[in-house]
Amino acid sequence: AEMALRQAQKLESIGKLTGGVAHDFNNILQVLQGSLQLLQGHVRGNEAAGQRIATALRAVERGGRLSAQLLAFARRQPLQPAVLDPRLVLESMDELLRRAVGDEIAFQVVCGAAPWPVSVDKDQLENVLLNLVINARDAMPGGGTLTVEIANVARVDGDLASHAGSIAGEHVMFAVVDTGTGMTREVLEQACEPFFTTKPVGEGTGLGLSMAYGFVQQSGGHFRIASEPGKGTAVRLYFPRCTEAGAPVSPAAPPRCEGGS
Ligand code: ADP
Repeated sequence: AEMALRQAQKLESIGKLTGGVAHDFNNILQVLQGSLQLLQGHVRGNEAAGQRIATALRAVERGGRLSAQLLAFARRQPLQPAVLDPRLVLESMDELLRRAVGDEIAFQVVCGAAPWPVSVDKDQLENVLLNLVINARDAMPGGGTLTVEIANVARVDGDLASHAGSIAGEHVMFAVVDTGTGMTREVLEQACEPFFTTKPVGEGTGLGLSMAYGFVQQSGGHFRIASEPGKGTAVRLYFPRCTEAGAPVSPAAPPRCEGGS
């Protein structure tokens, strides 16, 4: 709980700062983009110059995506939870995820027969899952297997990254599992810190896992990472089971896990 509080305070102050910077940065990029596009019209026929401008425009575009991500992070939109069928969430994302993963990596989806409903913000859940899948892909430059799994579970297992223990209670688990590089203990312990990244400048923002962590936390769920260098990583999100009407299922209810493992 202490770590969660520390994380929340840090996220808030960083969010304020980042929001201002990202906003100004975006305005600057727009000036650049406009000027570059204008220049492009003036250098028609000069292939070398045209290519330089195209390169600059691509860099501006990348900067734009980065500042959009920072702005989304800074705003931390309030959650709009709705009752979801986890299976439908994955089905609707299937094509997007496959495209993100590419052909070099084996992609599989594992889903129990009847996952319980959860009450979660669908857009943000999708965003988080996509980020986790991209992380898993990036961890497997030489290929491997990427598994997205949904299962009903009667308990949340402990982990090392947050030093959190096991918790009893009915949850739906969303897991993104890869057979990639894994993380050293040192990386694992910092992985959820905002802006912590081991990726080259311009490729990683270091916001993916911290946003995932914050989202799950805000949704009343639990976030767990298990990782072993050379073996791979499993990121697991656990959301409390709810009824079809959206009411939380009492944690005192006897554990039933007919649909999952
Ligand atoms: P980013 O992906 O932009 O670096 P994240 O917050 O998503 O930001 O991840 C932070 C760091 O955690 C990554 O730079 C990487 O070192 C590590 N990491 C995250 N996911 C994985 C994974 N599936 N396998 C190995 N390392 C990972």
